[in-house]
Amino acid sequence: MIYLKSESEIEKLRAAARLVSQTLAVVAKEIRPGVETGALDRIAEEFIVKNNARPAFKGYGSKQNPFPATLCISVNEEVVHGIPGNRTLNEGDIVSVDCGVEKEGYFGDHAFTFMVGECSDQDKKLLRVTLESLYKGIEKSIHGNKTGDIGHAIQSHCEAEDFGVVRDLVGHGIGKSMHEDPSIPNYGKPGRGERLRSGMTLAIEPMITHGTWKVKTLPDKWTIVTADGSKAAHFEHDVVVREGKAEILSTFDYIAEITKIEITETSYG
Ligand code: MG
Ligand code: MG
Repeated sequence: MIYLKSESEIEKLRAAARLVSQTLAVVAKEIRPGVETGALDRIAEEFIVKNNARPAFKGYGSKQNPFPATLCISVNEEVVHGIPGNRTLNEGDIVSVDCGVEKEGYFGDHAFTFMVGECSDQDKKLLRVTLESLYKGIEKSIHGNKTGDIGHAIQSHCEAEDFGVVRDLVGHGIGKSMHEDPSIPNYGKPGRGERLRSGMTLAIEPMITHGTWKVKTLPDKWTIVTADGSKAAHFEHDVVVREGKAEILSTFDYIAEITKIEITETSYG
């Protein structure tokens, strides 16, 4: 079931997305060698609660194994859903921070992969190409296109650089639930899949690796790692499908401001 949103609903989604953007910036400020991922999580939770919202990832999942934290923090070979804890960040790591909030009944869900100190040129390229692919996908998120157009744009951009495109996890609709229809795979064929219509709101999130597209789940039943141990990058934006040009609800501007690193559609790292 796909829910089209009214402008007043989109306004609420915009507020939720903005809070996630601000939370990621608060976290960005603390990312440095030596910091524990659990400390980053506590800072994010405090900030979200202070802003009258709920950390949407906390408690998500099954009763037997609910996600225990506010952020998913995934370091190097971890692709997504890493559980914050006593892992310490090291110089040269790349770390995906994914955050979800529920504010006034609407969800925001977006992510950024940070460099810890100075990273290798190879890793910088992975980050830049993954970020570029996110915007290539967003460019296709317009009324009348299909989900396969988004996936194809992401896949072809990343595979042209010999990077792996993770298939087991995908983007999704977002609204009054964190995960709504349709699924937005990061691979696909132009003209295939679900038709996009104005008022659909989507979370687009390429997950791209240096090596294979194959992934596995760690015994904690959450953390997804690359099957070959290669590093992975992950960026996510929330967007509204519109005629001609999608509207991006989330922003990396707060991160750029705090880190003093330029982040544009074609430059990062
Ligand atoms: Mg998502
Ligand atoms: Mg996310």
